[in-house]
Amino acid sequence: MSKFLTEKYSFIKPYTPGEQPKDKTLVKLNTNESPFPPSPKAIEAAAKAAQTLNLYSDPENTDLIDAIAENYGVAPSNVIAGNGSDEILAFCFQAFCDEKIPAFFADVTYGFYKVFAKLYGVEAKIIPLKDDFSICPEEYYNIGGTAFIANPNAPTGMTLSLEQIEGLLKSNPDNIIVIDEAYVDFGGESAIPLTKCYENLIVVQTFSKSRGLAGGRIGFAVANAELIADLKKIKYSYNPYNVGAMPQAAAAASMRDKEYFEKNRAEVIRVREMTVTELEKMGFTVLPSKANFIFARANKISGADYFKALRENGIIVRYFDAPRINEFVRISIGTQEQMQKLLSATKKILEERV
Ligand code: PMP
Repeated sequence: MSKFLTEKYSFIKPYTPGEQPKDKTLVKLNTNESPFPPSPKAIEAAAKAAQTLNLYSDPENTDLIDAIAENYGVAPSNVIAGNGSDEILAFCFQAFCDEKIPAFFADVTYGFYKVFAKLYGVEAKIIPLKDDFSICPEEYYNIGGTAFIANPNAPTGMTLSLEQIEGLLKSNPDNIIVIDEAYVDFGGESAIPLTKCYENLIVVQTFSKSRGLAGGRIGFAVANAELIADLKKIKYSYNPYNVGAMPQAAAAASMRDKEYFEKNRAEVIRVREMTVTELEKMGFTVLPSKANFIFARANKISGADYFKALRENGIIVRYFDAPRINEFVRISIGTQEQMQKLLSATKKILEERV
């Protein structure tokens, strides 16, 4: 750190992204990407857009917003796109939290929420998950601040039902509820239809997981038009050209390629269920996941040892050395072949060590 960094940022502990290894022979199950390439239509659209890179990208993201709005049956004025859903979440913190409006989120959830709270000088009010790692929606009733709820939650993969979300929306007419649906396409229920009935709801989604475009960096939010206008105010005060021309084109084409999307998400769900069954047979505890990852405890060896041993066997998963979850590892769902490698390595590790 230099002596020039302002005091307010000197205490920030930045988010640590999962490793992006140079060694491409490793089985990469650590950052919840899609194991499948982008839709061929997305690749074609991005290549065509490359020819226009001398010009700025469309700041309104018109075609992409149209594709998203059409897919979810909302108006374009109900949608904003961002440079990954991380940027959309950052806009939400800036627009709907401040020194007087705290951010409420779980003790075990997406690690970026607490980084954003620090970055934007917002008080973080932590609501612990229950012992079984589920979210207690009643604890978010009448909160007097803005709630950030990942549904499915990360890294647990566990979901809230739409009835539970509706309960907390009704009890918070004067508070914004942000539902982060990064993983919703793998078995959760989207709250997007509720944005038509609740003026306090923002639903955030991403193209990084089920739509196979993590490297394109595109996320979006759906909400009533006034809330979207608030978020756009932040965007246009910060970076009007926040989504590049190639990612915009790729994302619009990928949203329209419903067949490819359905095929891949169904395969991820199938492979997830197969993996859970096999790990449970080996004595693991696996939380009930509706995401493209599972949160698993080996029971026979420690979480840290299992993580290390997998790495020695060429498999990278994610380990969080944090209270309550340090006996678990988070395993992204890869292809059938990748998961077979994980299962074989796990069998070998347990035979060697137990
Ligand atoms: N929300 C959750 C819960 C996540 O796990 C992630 C991925 N790290 C994001 C949002 C951000 O994803 P992206 O910026 O790639 O859209």
